[in-house]
Amino acid sequence: MREFTHEARPMRVVLRAGASVTAVPDEVERLGLRRVLVVSGPRGAATARTVADALGDACVGVHAEARMHVPAEVADRAVEVVHAADADGCVAVGGGSAIGLGKVIALSTGLPLTAVPSTYSGSEMTPVWGLTEDGVKRTGRDPSVLPRSVVYDPELTRSLPVALTVTSGVNAVAHAAEALYAPDASPLVALTAEEGVRAMVDALPELAASPVDLAARGRALYGAWLCGAALGATTMGLHHKLCHVLGGTFGLPHAETHTVLLPYVLAHNAPAAPAAMTSLGRALDTDDAPLALRELAVGLGAPRTLAELGLARADLTVAARAAAEQAYPNPRKVTAEGVLDLLRAAYHGVRP
Ligand code: NAD
Repeated sequence: MREFTHEARPMRVVLRAGASVTAVPDEVERLGLRRVLVVSGPRGAATARTVADALGDACVGVHAEARMHVPAEVADRAVEVVHAADADGCVAVGGGSAIGLGKVIALSTGLPLTAVPSTYSGSEMTPVWGLTEDGVKRTGRDPSVLPRSVVYDPELTRSLPVALTVTSGVNAVAHAAEALYAPDASPLVALTAEEGVRAMVDALPELAASPVDLAARGRALYGAWLCGAALGATTMGLHHKLCHVLGGTFGLPHAETHTVLLPYVLAHNAPAAPAAMTSLGRALDTDDAPLALRELAVGLGAPRTLAELGLARADLTVAARAAAEQAYPNPRKVTAEGVLDLLRAAYHGVRP
């Protein structure tokens, strides 16, 4: 008998082509909101305005100032704008950075959040928020930051460049992979994670060949939803902690870092997580999931090494120590030497 605990998250999810325009007004109305503020990053401002136009009188403005890792001053300014506009809710349109700002607004104000994701980051499915102050990123879990409603519109993702499509897709796969060996995984999480990986890895080669293919965009978003849901239901392990250190302390780019590192962390954890590897192997149709993942990503043009991402060789030891001194669950015992070995391999890009 497999014993488990599973907690379902109270969210509505809509996936439909055109939903950012056709479904968002309905979702906002269902929540009883009349004065929502739409937030996005500067590059997503035009899309955010389209969503705002569809909301009509139910929208009090667009605030297009989200930035990566939610700097505290950006969060403070957004909360001021929410209060000044007397908003009763927030709609975040964009990638993990825009949704991250929406979450911090929800955390500070208690107002309900609707998320309209335009990447595969999966942040919309997790109760995890992040805030960067004085160069240090803090994260926490709070149910109040979970979007009440998530609207996936494959049309929005047609403009996602191929490079970011691939790395953001592997970012989603990383969520599912760590959920599969998390101590709080359940049978439902395992099914969700495996199907999420299958959908994403099926869609990525098609999207690299034809980035505007709406059906493939829809499959990738479906995969991102499932992978994000698996992450949202579980506790993250070594891979996410290490990416957090490399992004937070050394400024490495989020999705790219996940993409380079994942095969190496999986190869490292594989001996201690046989069931997760079997599941990933089924989804990837291989008996060597770490290698297959790396070949998929590199074959689609993703970066191969941490050196390419701008990490200095001297930083490897510092990063290994930082990742080893925190406490978190991981199937294989985390030691500074073990982490350094895998970081060295990822730095040089040797076969995982
Ligand atoms: P992002 O939101 O920073 O977007 C990356 C770039 O892509 C931006 O320049 C953006 O303008 C552009 N972009 C986004 N969607 C686009 C589209 N459809 N077409 C064209 N350009 C588009 O990057 P991300 O990888 O989505 O998110 C990364 C952030 O999210 C990090 O801060 C990370 O820590 C956070 N995150 C949090 C969680 C969580 O559970 N809390 C999960 C995943 C990621």
